[in-house]
Amino acid sequence: MSKYGDFKVVRTERRVPKKATDPNVDFDGMREYSFLKCPHCHIETILIASLNVQIQQHAAIREHIATCPAYTGERPVKRCKAVKLVPSEATISKEMFQALEQKIKEQDLLRTLVATHLQRRQTSFHLKRNSSRAATSR
Ligand SMILES: [Zn+2]
Repeated sequence: MSKYGDFKVVRTERRVPKKATDPNVDFDGMREYSFLKCPHCHIETILIASLNVQIQQHAAIREHIATCPAYTGERPVKRCKAVKLVPSEATISKEMFQALEQKIKEQDLLRTLVATHLQRRQTSFHLKRNSSRAATSR
């Protein structure tokens, strides 16, 4: 269920891919596409390669809602390209976004831990060398 209503896959159709050099084509050069039906204007124009429905439907729904003639709610704001590169609730689910955020935090923490650990090892190494040198010179 999307934020913009219940968009359902109403049918699928085998088509020649939009991209001429699509690597995901089947042996016959065709791909399966899914049609999502808009619950507001009831037009089945949202076409996504079936393989990518889960990934692309949110972006596709947003795109349709921006121009849907029957939609009366708040329309999505078009974002600039730089912002689009950042994972957002538009392309992935909130849970996935939070998991990603968590991962990034953990990686930062790990990097800090490794850095401090290396620093400590270097310091203790110097101390050892200095103390052993002191011992032999005696
Ligand atoms: Zn619509």
